[in-house]
Amino acid sequence: MKTRRWMAALLAVLLTLSLGGCGKETVGKGSGEASGDNTIALLAPDDFAGKLHQYTKPDQHYSLAETEAGYYFVSYGMLYFIDRDTQKVSLVCAKPDCDHMQDNVCNARLNGTALHGGEEISYVRDIFENTVERKTVRAVEPDGTAQREVQELKANNSIGYERTIYHRGYVYYISEGVLYRVKYGGAKDSAEVLWTPANTGEDQVQGNYTLVGAYSVQYALWAEEDTLYFMVNLPREDGTTRDTLFACDLQDLSVQQVWETPSADEVGAWETTGVSASQWYISDGTIYFYLAGNGLWKTDLSTGKTEKLADTGDQIPYGSAVYSDDTVCIVNDIPKFWETSEKVYPGSPWRYDADALFVYGMDGTFRKEISLQPLFDALGQVSTIELVLTDGQNAYFVTTAMTYSTQDGFPIGNKGDKTLCRADLETGEVSPLYTLL
Ligand SMILES: [Zn+2]
Repeated sequence: MKTRRWMAALLAVLLTLSLGGCGKETVGKGSGEASGDNTIALLAPDDFAGKLHQYTKPDQHYSLAETEAGYYFVSYGMLYFIDRDTQKVSLVCAKPDCDHMQDNVCNARLNGTALHGGEEISYVRDIFENTVERKTVRAVEPDGTAQREVQELKANNSIGYERTIYHRGYVYYISEGVLYRVKYGGAKDSAEVLWTPANTGEDQVQGNYTLVGAYSVQYALWAEEDTLYFMVNLPREDGTTRDTLFACDLQDLSVQQVWETPSADEVGAWETTGVSASQWYISDGTIYFYLAGNGLWKTDLSTGKTEKLADTGDQIPYGSAVYSDDTVCIVNDIPKFWETSEKVYPGSPWRYDADALFVYGMDGTFRKEISLQPLFDALGQVSTIELVLTDGQNAYFVTTAMTYSTQDGFPIGNKGDKTLCRADLETGEVSPLYTLL
């Protein structure tokens, strides 16, 4: 029951946010030009560990797939494409005369998450049909001409934001706190159990919500070569939860713990309760992680050796990061729960007050500080800036500019206009690219 209430609260928040973007003129229609000649070249189709996927914030609203031509990404259930060469952004719907507002009509309207760049562009939709939850993998034509169902997944009171991933012919997903894998396109009942959290009995209070039993374990999935990594927030004896990383050997399906967020006494003055890395990224068996207020770190997962790469605390007291294979971008935003809760959730998507982007190399070298002031000049009162991805040349992020309507001087409503923006990491130029629906 509590879980339902929690989900309802989350849905209410998401609905509010997505409604904030409604009722706006569509800026351009998606068309076949999204993918040029209608063929699509997926990068590294056998390996999920595409450079640009971030599974650092499971409650973040953006999912990504990379192709040679550019990036597909989902924002609040809508599918967009960013052309890598021209930086042109389009909504991926090629239906003539579509106003992009209707479910089951508009091809860009996925109402799902977890975009996969596997054998094809696919995503996961998790909806209730006649009170029965139905979780499916659906494929989209990259030119926005059609969608179809690929397979159904086990679903039982799943938490919607738990991301699935695709890796080497399999879909990895979570249902009722259990980690499964199933062949892409395979039957629902052929799914194999990879891992079940042992300690699922306790309720946990997280922020304003109580999570019940198995649902309290949040996963973030990552795959590289023959290893599936999964980060879970396991409860500790002191009442906190701590991010703990497991590695599943995809040859024999054995699982072992390989990392956990270091505590403050291991890494120095990290005041954010030591529970959760703000952001992390795995490359060649090394986990790179950002501890808000306390720098950039890495741990070699085979030796367990942890190293500090850069101090960021003085310049960036709090922040959110995105990684690529050679670049880390951090915006200096502040989690909104900071003032209202004893705990700070570094990965909280509810953040504000960012005004600059800081660029580092993977080795911790500071490269550049980029002011975001031009965006405020162009877009008005920007309240939040959410990083979507960096590819080393550019950083992409979504800004929300709030406009408040008043009556007799009293606020009666607000509307959030979301804009996809880009920072050129070489020149430092920042610019709005596209007004999102
Ligand atoms: Zn449409």
